[in-house]
Formats: sequence, structure tokens, C-alpha cells
Amino acid sequence: MRKKIVAGNWKMNNDLAETQELLSHLKMQLVKEPEAEVMVAPAFTNLYSAFQGLKDTPVQVVAQNMHQAENGAYTGEVSAKMLKSIGVDTVILGHSERRAHFGETNEILAEKVNSALKSEMKIIFCFGEELADRKSDKHFDLVAKQLEESLYQISEADWKNVILAYEPVWAIGTGETASPEQAQEMHAFIRRNISEKFNDEIAQNVSILYGGSVKPANAKEIFAKEDVDGGLIGGASLKAVDFVEIINAF
Ligand code: PGA
Repeated sequence: MRKKIVAGNWKMNNDLAETQELLSHLKMQLVKEPEAEVMVAPAFTNLYSAFQGLKDTPVQVVAQNMHQAENGAYTGEVSAKMLKSIGVDTVILGHSERRAHFGETNEILAEKVNSALKSEMKIIFCFGEELADRKSDKHFDLVAKQLEESLYQISEADWKNVILAYEPVWAIGTGETASPEQAQEMHAFIRRNISEKFNDEIAQNVSILYGGSVKPANAKEIFAKEDVDGGLIGGASLKAVDFVEIINAF
């Protein structure tokens, strides 16, 4: 049985007080034991406080990014070791905003993937096509290339620490969601691709999340699809009631 996961990506939102407030609402409203694993990704400055505040809850705290080097002259960056030293052992890598605004290429992402896995961190690896790729029917090729160039260098044993998040760029923060059928079609393609490059056991065991304008109104239908194992939620994770409704969509 694959793990079901609902993760909230808070992006560059919420200062310390706002983070604590959102987490206390989340704790209050998560009354029933969630069927899915729940994760939240606050900004770097709020990770330590969030980790401390969520220690006795099932909610895991994950980072939104990390640098691939172990340490050194990389002003403004944060390493895997630093994250692990405050209790954070999972990191989102390859988010489309990192690719678009911070120049993260497939090659750089391969280094980040390797560095995180070597440091025994879990990764939520994000990828997905832009609208132009889909319009020109290149979305499957593009996704295969992103996986090939950034992820498929890992070993079979590494896969237990990998969560995938398919996030079509045209659906992120736009209010436009991939239909449940479009998500299912791509997730099934990804699983076949992994099965061909690695093996079927790995392909069947890896959780593949969908991300892009998931909200309470559409989460149930999307999560009901066979190959969709949960969601990476941006905007709707910033309001506890909405995020909890999405968590409870399983
Ligand atoms: P969104 O963001 O839910 O606001 O579309 C998803 C994401 O960027 O992970």
C-alpha cells in the first residue's frame, strides 16, 4: 500500500507569529486522525519553531529548498545538515518557482537530489510541464526528461526516500486545475516510466502527489484517482479550514 500524503507548501508567506497562529488553528481543527500523512513547509525562518510546536502531533515539518553543497561560501543558502540539526528531514526540491525564478535547472536539481539523499533526507521532487508543452503535446516527453535528468541517477535503495509531486505549471496558483483524468493519465505515465527504468515494485510503491490549484471543492475527485496518492497544496494550505478539508478528502 502506497502512502497517502497531503503537504502544504506555504511558499514565502507567514512571519513567525502568523506561522504559529496557522499551526494552532491546524492543530485545533485536525480532530480526527488523518488517513493521509500530513506535512507543512514553512519558510526557513519558521522551521524551527514549527518543528517544536508540532512535535507531539502527526504533522511533519518539511523545508521548501536546500543547497546542494555540504557547507561553505554560499551566502544566503541552507544545507541539508542545517535542516537535519533542527529536526527537519524532508525537503521539497524542484518546485517550478525555484526553476523559473532561481535558475534551478535539471542539472542543478540532480545535484540537490543526490546531496539530500546522501544526507539521508527524504525528498518531495516536483516537476511538470508548462502550458506550451501541453498545447504542443510534448508534456509526456518533458516530464520524462525532467525525471531522467534530475532523478533517475539515484539507486534503487534511494527510492524509499522519494516522494514525487507532479505539478503542471499552468495549474499552479492560477485557479486552473488539471482535470482528475489529466492527473491520472500523467501519474500512470510516470509510474510506467519508473517501471521501465527501474522496476515495477519501485513504481508501485512510490507516492505521486498532484499539485496545482487543489482546493476543498476538487480534492476528493482528484485523490480518488488510482495513481494519485495525495496533493501538494499551495494557496489552499494557508487557511486551516481549507487545508483540513483537503486532508479529510481521503
Ligand atoms: P497552488 O500551488 O495550490 O497554489 O496552485 C501548488 C504548489 O505550488 O505547490
